[in-house]
Amino acid sequence: MGEQTKYLLDESRIPKRWYNIQADLPKPLAPVLHPGTMKPVGPDDLAPLFPMALIMQEVTTEREIDIPEPVRDIYRLWRPSPLFRAHRLEKALGTPAKIFYKYEGVSPAGSHKPNTAVAQAFYNREAGIKRLSTETGAGQWGSSLAFAGALFGIDVTVFQVRVSYDQKPYRRALMESYGARCLPSPSTETDYGRSVLAKSPDHPGSLGIAISEAVEVAAKNDDTKYALGSVLNHVLLHQTVVGLEAMEQLKMADAWPDVIVGCTGGGSNFAGITFPFIGDGLRGGAKPRIVAVEPAACPSLTRGKFAYDFGDTGHMTPLAKMHTLGSTFTPPGFHAGGLRYHGMAPLVSHLKELNLIEAVAYHQKECFAAGIQFARSEGILPAPEANHAVKGAIEEALRCKREGRSETILFNLCGHGHFDMAAYMAYSAGTLTDQSYSEQELAMALAGLPSVPEPA
Ligand SMILES: *Cc1c(COP(=O)(O)O)cnc(C)c1O
Repeated sequence: MGEQTKYLLDESRIPKRWYNIQADLPKPLAPVLHPGTMKPVGPDDLAPLFPMALIMQEVTTEREIDIPEPVRDIYRLWRPSPLFRAHRLEKALGTPAKIFYKYEGVSPAGSHKPNTAVAQAFYNREAGIKRLSTETGAGQWGSSLAFAGALFGIDVTVFQVRVSYDQKPYRRALMESYGARCLPSPSTETDYGRSVLAKSPDHPGSLGIAISEAVEVAAKNDDTKYALGSVLNHVLLHQTVVGLEAMEQLKMADAWPDVIVGCTGGGSNFAGITFPFIGDGLRGGAKPRIVAVEPAACPSLTRGKFAYDFGDTGHMTPLAKMHTLGSTFTPPGFHAGGLRYHGMAPLVSHLKELNLIEAVAYHQKECFAAGIQFARSEGILPAPEANHAVKGAIEEALRCKREGRSETILFNLCGHGHFDMAAYMAYSAGTLTDQSYSEQELAMALAGLPSVPEPA
């Protein structure tokens, strides 16, 4: 018999509290600013968009936040998620490194996103909200919120980025099966969508535009709130169940990571697996290296500016200080739709500025090659987004091989790729190309960043 491959926890070990890294930051986050006054926003400014419980989770510096029992009860459908040791991948790479991965593809929507969707739907239902509006890029978030809405009896309206609405009909079918209403964005449903279509009837859409539409619907309807699947502090908070469980499972394996790898779109799955470990390091524990992997076609952490920017293209959201490519930047249409966002979570950006994390960018073809190699040794076909984390972990394992080091590598396999077979078919047929963004458009988008007076 070989060494153990799979580390499972009993249902009773689902975390009872989320971990809030704001309690342990050596320097607090820059405040979020009101788009009109450029002054820090207060809870009341956000009340049209979010229930108060979530607004308080945005700003609290309490270290541990209780997970409500009804949320834990739904988590039991797939949590605790398994931690695997990738023995076969290690052998295929000929590396002395130990590779562990946490697998979040076991959720009903096939990714980590239900970890926050269920929590957000719960707090909205507690506040008496009847409908949630949201955006989705690849369809992962839309299907996660549709799932959570169905379980809590809340209507869900999803603005899906036009290209993915056209390219990924099965994600839409899944959202509609859960009872959600799904519209291509830009849509004729909102003032902002109509204004974009008037200028550009064939606009492919972007997450920034879809966010503007979803925010507009929430702002104009009292019974409707907005839900975001990444970027915000409370979303990252909810994802920490991933890292908290991984800590328990690694103890079972008598292992601890030297390096942790995650892919970053808005930063939530990366935060989920890394923040509990980073916090442990900040409180005097071991300090693993932490590596964020992003797409070279949308490189906010490696090529963006750390500056105040809007979260959306229509400039309806507050301004947050983050790594950004500019809110008017439209990333090229590569296949990891969940990573096509102009900004990065303020918390992840802040950690990058504090040199507590590293970031690298890879092109999509090398990431698909890594994903295929992973599938052929471990059996799970990763989501195109997750391929970036696989690529990052493989690079670390190959470095260990060159240096003759038997380090322990942990990465987050944040979702499976069963809805992304068109992308894999393109890869196999050789028609997948590496997209580069337009340097000129990036320069223009960065030149258009809002000017914000520096606090004295
Ligand atoms: C949405 C998504 C991402 C990107 O979002 P993060 O907030 O950066 O995690 C990555 N992977 C998968 C599978 C996704 O669905």
